[in-house]
Amino acid sequence: MRALRVAVVGSGPAGAFCAQILAEEADHPVSVDVFERLPTPFGLVRYGVAPDHQKIKSIVASFAEIFETPGVRFLGNVTVGSDITVSELREHYDAVVLASGAPLDRRLGVPGEDLGGVVPAGRFVSWYSGHPDADFDTSLLSAERAVVVGVGNVALDVARMLVRTPDELRRTDVPEHVIEALAGHAVREVCIVGRRGPEAAKFTGKELLELAEVEGADVIVPAEELALAEAAQQAGAGAPSRPAVTRMLGSLRKIADRQPQGRSRAIRFLFNRTPVEFVGDTSVTGIALAHTADPTQVEVLETGLVLPAIGYRSVPLGGAPFDEATGTVPHRDSRVLDGDRTVPGLYVVGWAKRGPSGVIGTNRLCASETATAVLADAAAAAAAPERDTDTDTDTDSTAIDDLLRSRGVPVVNWSRWLAIEAAEVRLGQASGRDRAKFHHRADMLVAAGIDR
Ligand SMILES: Cc1cc2nc3c(=O)[nH]c(=O)nc-3n(C[C@H](O)[C@H](O)[C@H](O)COP(=O)(O)OP(=O)(O)OC[C@H]3O[C@@H](n4cnc5c(N)ncnc54)[C@H](O)[C@@H]3O)c2cc1C
Repeated sequence: MRALRVAVVGSGPAGAFCAQILAEEADHPVSVDVFERLPTPFGLVRYGVAPDHQKIKSIVASFAEIFETPGVRFLGNVTVGSDITVSELREHYDAVVLASGAPLDRRLGVPGEDLGGVVPAGRFVSWYSGHPDADFDTSLLSAERAVVVGVGNVALDVARMLVRTPDELRRTDVPEHVIEALAGHAVREVCIVGRRGPEAAKFTGKELLELAEVEGADVIVPAEELALAEAAQQAGAGAPSRPAVTRMLGSLRKIADRQPQGRSRAIRFLFNRTPVEFVGDTSVTGIALAHTADPTQVEVLETGLVLPAIGYRSVPLGGAPFDEATGTVPHRDSRVLDGDRTVPGLYVVGWAKRGPSGVIGTNRLCASETATAVLADAAAAAAAPERDTDTDTDTDSTAIDDLLRSRGVPVVNWSRWLAIEAAEVRLGQASGRDRAKFHHRADMLVAAGIDR
């Protein structure tokens, strides 16, 4: 029996886990080609997970083993949708799995959102993580106050990165110019704005307590709002009696009871407020916040930098079905749906399938469901007497390699990626750090030995 040939689009956690399960757990041979539009693998583990969370990022070592598994290939620097289409992949492979994540920031839908200085948190995260497509105007860091909208873990990541000291930043792998911009900026106060009360905060207690430990800033929790939430919880008012909420309020209480240390910066939580307008002519000068309980009560907070951190959505992938309402790829049991019908041989996994929720490990379970669907369909096709699967698609990777070569697409394979990685380590060591990321695609390609 020839190997089942699967193309996975995206090398983040979902794509990597899916490739691993297909290559290692199927009871017949499977070869997997993982296409990645960047020259670098690992998706948001490299370009989302906060640079000061190196322990979490160390999961890339086990992802690397996946890409080194016999039968799994990494084809970086190939954008599905422009370098090669989804339909072409479907012609060349038995199954195509979309693992392209949710790269777009959700919008608030508030007037003034397009003013200069209103920067979706995802774009800021991508910039400090050294994503080759991410740009950020560092002059915005001359604002004295930055406002982060949203109370999830990403909001806390962004706030923490804004107050990290130069020494703390040098322990990360962010590009050197990011350290320079973050080390000397003028931001003195970072406000984190939540629509509801402290009991509804979405961040985890662990991230909150980490925020409270940063060397460069005092963290200020509003005593009055916290007391109200605690009272409501003690009175057993609805959802706030859940244990997770008890823990969250307990963590906030610990921080609220601490004396400010007179640090040079402050992170201030503002709960029960909704942004209703970004104020300014061409650039933002303030954010108008309405009190949730009484929307006629509006205050304007002066600021030159607003970072909405309210979630992500997926983008349509050339020719594949997409649900604009949910911002995800529609599916039934991981099989992509076009209307009511499944598209033969097309599957989805990870954030493109579920939307932007869950931690890295959540994608393993999700990948297991998708791989199960791929293998079940392959088994059913092999058992069908009328179909000769051997003649449907390529039997090896030569045709796809030839196609990409004929289009002049310089593929970054795994050994080329290892060359980029080694060059980043050398770059970091030159300035006394363990590693410093490249920010520009051209630098990555040169390090990969692709000079163009
Ligand atoms: C800011 C932030 C911080 C996070 N921090 C943590 C954390 O600390 N701990 C934790 O457990 N989880 C964290 N997460 C969640 C975690 O990153 C996600 O659960 C996970 O990355 C989702 O995996 P994915 O593979 O679906 O998407 P992604 O990781 O986004 O991977 C998708 C990949 O597809 C590629 N791609 C997209 N389009 C194309 C195309 N057309 N052609 C080829 N390739 C394409 C992308 O370049 C990308 O590499 C964080 C998320 C964010 C946004």
